Amino acid sequence: MFNPQGEFDTRSGFVAITGRPNVGKSTLLNTIMGHKVAIVSPKPQTTRNRIAGVKTMGKTQIVFLDTPGIHQHKYLLNRYMVEVALRAAADVDMILFLVDARRATQADQEALERILSKASSEKLLVVMNKVDLARPGEIEATEEELLGMVKPRQLAKVCALKGQGVGELLKRIEEAMPEGPFYYPVESITDQPTPFLIAELIREKVFMLTQQEVPYSVAVVVEDVMRRKEDV
Ligand code: GDP
Ligand code: MG
Repeated sequence: MFNPQGEFDTRSGFVAITGRPNVGKSTLLNTIMGHKVAIVSPKPQTTRNRIAGVKTMGKTQIVFLDTPGIHQHKYLLNRYMVEVALRAAADVDMILFLVDARRATQADQEALERILSKASSEKLLVVMNKVDLARPGEIEATEEELLGMVKPRQLAKVCALKGQGVGELLKRIEEAMPEGPFYYPVESITDQPTPFLIAELIREKVFMLTQQEVPYSVAVVVEDVMRRKEDV
């Protein structure tokens, strides 16, 4: 994908999505992808940076990385979250750090400080999510706290669940991606179920059907994918 001058006419990059459990990382990813992607990973819970979804829009391809599932004891959570973000920071073009728009917790702030001490602040975008749940004044208060640590242009406000603000967020991510070739074929990950996606769907069904029996961890390996005749 070169232009006549021999330069790339495409942009591509990696974006890590991080933040406390339950802030809406998976929801945001699903909304961005426009369909259910869940977690797309060749080896659940083992890979360093898990590919969560590949979004190709025209001449830009964004590879989203999910942070691994967190099973640690509560007091380790913050450290773990930061470590994941820091490890990812070296390899990614952008870090999305999600916080609840209603309140930035102490853990959020400590995590942010550590990320900022290690990673280039240019890579960081703090996403205030769940704006729909905020009471009057809460968003402003959260924003003010965050602005003690980051610049206004590093803040975004969204409602991942309903998609409010997600289009603008995506645009900002798109513009931050460096020039470069696509890492993945356009069709294979965005438009059709890959073996990874199939494995995740199976994993989700296992969880749903065996809530009592399977406490928290299931790995699914897809060995073969066959197309039904009518799909060809
Ligand atoms: P994760 O642990 O960070 O991946 O969080 P999830 O994406 O699983 O979301 C945790 C919960 O918050 C789920 O019940 C979501 O439906 C809910 N949630 C996520 N984003 C929003 C939002 O923008 N508004 C509201 N009202 N709920 C949200
Ligand atoms: Mg999640």
